[in-house]
Amino acid sequence: MTIELATNKPIVSLLADASSRLEEALKYVTVSEDALCRLKSPKASLSVSIPVRMDNGSLRVFQGYRVRYDDTRGPGKGGVRFHPNVSLDEVQSLAFWMTFKCALLNLPFGGAKGGVTLNPKELSRHELERLSRGYIDAIADFIGPDIDILAPDVYTNSMIMGWMMDQYSIIKRQVCPAVVTGKPLMMGGSQGRESATALGAFYSIQTILPKFDQVPSNTTVAVQGFGNVGGILAELLAKAGYKVVAVSDSQGGMYRQKGLDIPTIRRYKEDHQSLTNFYCQDTVCSIDEHAAITNEELLTLNVDVLIPAALENQITAANAEQIQAKYIFEVANGPTTSAADQILAQKGIQVFPDILVNAGGVTVSYFEWVQNRSGLYWSATEVQERLKEKMIEETEATWQICQELGTSMRTAAYVHAINRLGEALDAKGTRD
Ligand code: GLU
Repeated sequence: MTIELATNKPIVSLLADASSRLEEALKYVTVSEDALCRLKSPKASLSVSIPVRMDNGSLRVFQGYRVRYDDTRGPGKGGVRFHPNVSLDEVQSLAFWMTFKCALLNLPFGGAKGGVTLNPKELSRHELERLSRGYIDAIADFIGPDIDILAPDVYTNSMIMGWMMDQYSIIKRQVCPAVVTGKPLMMGGSQGRESATALGAFYSIQTILPKFDQVPSNTTVAVQGFGNVGGILAELLAKAGYKVVAVSDSQGGMYRQKGLDIPTIRRYKEDHQSLTNFYCQDTVCSIDEHAAITNEELLTLNVDVLIPAALENQITAANAEQIQAKYIFEVANGPTTSAADQILAQKGIQVFPDILVNAGGVTVSYFEWVQNRSGLYWSATEVQERLKEKMIEETEATWQICQELGTSMRTAAYVHAINRLGEALDAKGTRD
């Protein structure tokens, strides 16, 4: 059971809370005891120290991790996060979610994740490059195109993926593009990878909301997180006619009842690296119509759709009671704790889970890996069409299970994933 403090920080491990989601789903699936037993803990966890020569000549040692949760359905797959809160527990939970996400989308991958504990904003570009290469030096024996494949996550991007792929290739003395996805286009990256998570979430939202007769022009939306995912998704939704009334980044956000001018805000964020003071600047939007809001306030706004697109543990037992949205689409990994889930269910709020809604990123990562290995590269339209098809197919399949079993969408998503995973685990046998 998760006991939560007033600070919103769960005092049991994030992994324990994440895997408690399995319990509910297990009521509806028939997997063998052996398979279940193996899904309860990560297959391998690597913890490394990364010494980095800083620009001023001093040496700093950073803590890094790579966790392979399960690789029954294929090589481990998952991003690398650079963030001050990265811990082994967090990386294990993220690897757990990747395992179920890949199974849910029927990608031939297991689940993995990596991270380095640091604030990347405090490092110069050269320090960041040395750190990224040092991370690969430390984990090179643990990863590979057929073992475990890296990708971007919070505060990592295509430039960092390019350095990582290059470093791995230097170590192996051969060009190995398929060890990392989310690379720059010129280094074997895929068309459409940058916007894939946002676009995948958009397709999922567009598949779900009509089932509730919720049309874009009548739908207000709040998006927490305005990075590569939240920012692009807010723009896609605004273009499709939804009224995006609130957005925020790590420092805070803004609200405008009439709807925000998202393209202008995105340009502002690009120029200033922050949303702060947007409404005080000389922009096309008038100052008085915009209200500054905190991240906490954004979550409890009276909107139709709430989209947490930042970090885990945002909707907890401490604030779930105050949530007013009708639908929550989890674009971040793990934004809702299991205790909060129960409160939201009692309030009749529909939660669409992370392992489905944000799976567009890893889906296009899979496409990138396929292109790297075949040497044949697809057009942007081809990538987009295939992503759309996959997102709609698995969203519909999860919806179907949810209707048939009368469960939440989260439980349905886990049921769908466990069915595939359990079958693979059983087919593999136990070697004993
Ligand atoms: N970091 C993304 C996620 O959490 C993408 C992972 C990947 O592409 O491997 O799904």
